[in-house]
Amino acid sequence: MKKIGFIGLGIMGKPMAINLLKAGYSLTVYDIIPERIKEVVGAGAKAASSSKEVARKSEIIITMLPNSPEVKDAVLGTDGVLDGAKAGTILIDMSSIAPLASKEIAKEADKKAVSMLDAPVSGGEPKAIEGTLAIMVGGPEETFNEVKDIFGIMGASVTRVGEIGSGNMTKLANQIIVALNIAAMSEAMVLAAKAGVDPQKVFQAIRGGLAGSTVLDAKMPLVLKGNFKPGFRIELHIKDLANALDTARQIGVSVPLSAAVMEVMQALKVDGKGTDDHGGIIQFYEKLAKVQVRA
Ligand code: NAD
Repeated sequence: MKKIGFIGLGIMGKPMAINLLKAGYSLTVYDIIPERIKEVVGAGAKAASSSKEVARKSEIIITMLPNSPEVKDAVLGTDGVLDGAKAGTILIDMSSIAPLASKEIAKEADKKAVSMLDAPVSGGEPKAIEGTLAIMVGGPEETFNEVKDIFGIMGASVTRVGEIGSGNMTKLANQIIVALNIAAMSEAMVLAAKAGVDPQKVFQAIRGGLAGSTVLDAKMPLVLKGNFKPGFRIELHIKDLANALDTARQIGVSVPLSAAVMEVMQALKVDGKGTDDHGGIIQFYEKLAKVQVRA
């Protein structure tokens, strides 16, 4: 079994690393927050003091970090992955970052004979814990085939979409669809609640029809309880929509609805709700309409 290194042990990285340990892999781990390292060492991993040390001790390195700057720092920065990686190492970045950044990092990795895949995920913390994430992968097919089994431990669906950057391009499409769905659900439910119709009944009545969706089923029960504990933080979704808007500009595409929802999320962040779950988007509409959508 190949030795795996894991960098970034937050909401997602920690359960993903623990699932690899449970599957019998030997893991060396690092995070800039020492307590996070301790938690995963408690589950059987070995601690490292830098990304470079992780790379020195591993044949496959997985990163699960917030955004492009953090991945660049951990991979290309001082004491980063490329300072310690041997030729032939495989780097799998599972963070959701800008597709262009994936391409830039892969180019640098290639100079050290390190092959990179961008492999962002969908499914959130519950599916990270269950090992049932949806994983969308970009990068060389032969590298993908070498690590398919490892993806299978963390995910239930694993799709190689194309060359490097296409995993993150797919993830941006996913994030646009999720953000717009939550906003549509919020707008509609606030309207119904303000009109005096029981939102719980509205949810039950429509969930089996064309308006039904995975988003509706996942988020409405939480909204009805007023539970906005993350989950997926609004500030992380702002990061994804910022990457989507930047990418759209770079390639010459207009994304008007994404821009509108971006402003909604920005207002929530200013209102101190950036660390709420993205289901908390409904609070923007509730405030405007002076009504709450609760069971
Ligand atoms: P998180 O903030 O909980 O975890 C990120 C971890 O990276 C933290 O522990 C942080 O200390 C560490 N870190 C930051 N910079 C570092 C560096 N330079 N070196 C080493 N460690 C560093 O975030 P998360 O929710 O686990 O999300 C990680 C990625 O997965 C993000 O790109 C996010 O968009 C994506 N994602 C999250 C979810 C979700 O529901 N939380 C779902 C799908 C995808």
